[in-house]
Amino acid sequence: MKKVLIEEMSWSEFKEAMAGNDLIIMPVGSLEAHGRHNPLGVDLLVAAYCAKLIGEKVGAPVAPVMPFGWAASLAGYPGTVSLDPELYRKVLFSYAESYIKHGAKRFLWINGHGGNVPILGNVAGDLYEKYGTISSFTEWWTTLKQLKEDWPCDDHGGHFETSVMMAVNPDIVDMAKARVAPTSFLSEGLAAGGYRGVSVTLPIPSHKRQAGQKVANRGREPWGANAELGKAMIQTYVDYCVGLAAELRKMKV
Ligand SMILES: [Zn+2]
Repeated sequence: MKKVLIEEMSWSEFKEAMAGNDLIIMPVGSLEAHGRHNPLGVDLLVAAYCAKLIGEKVGAPVAPVMPFGWAASLAGYPGTVSLDPELYRKVLFSYAESYIKHGAKRFLWINGHGGNVPILGNVAGDLYEKYGTISSFTEWWTTLKQLKEDWPCDDHGGHFETSVMMAVNPDIVDMAKARVAPTSFLSEGLAAGGYRGVSVTLPIPSHKRQAGQKVANRGREPWGANAELGKAMIQTYVDYCVGLAAELRKMKV
């Protein structure tokens, strides 16, 4: 089978892969706490896994996963790494820029971590401004919850994310260590994720904001996570991204 992972190609194989192709799949993750039962690398492992499947289906080279992200809200957990957001923006820009020098005009970023979203938005804008390149980025959880009502996968290390991790590698998930996520209230008035029913901007991740709510948060806890569900989720996400890549290729750049 033809190689898709850039890290496995020689320079001449990469050159061949770029003949008649200008799309690169760029997985980006994070190294951060995901509960006691999940590995620190959930976001990078899932992003790399999906990116490889997408690259194979669309015939586009897949860049090595960027393992780190902006994870300031979890930086207190042992083993978590959070890059300075300004530095991270520059690293991602330079990363893409290197491929632009070798023919890339389109990027599909497969993002595994919510904290990266605002930074990827800036990078995509900056790349377009400087080079006119197209950068689209997707996250499996935002994509899937819009495609399927049954998958409200906004959890962090919960039912859905643990399922996806189990589909990628069940050997590094230990459900016996799973615990209920700690409850953290901002204040009585702000516990519902806003003030007086109106959402307000707060530098607190959504899973923490909602942890204090007394309403059922489907999927927020890991119980019942399973690889079968994770496989179905990954399949749906990969298929969606394959279609998206085909559309990106039709765009004039
Ligand atoms: Zn995650």
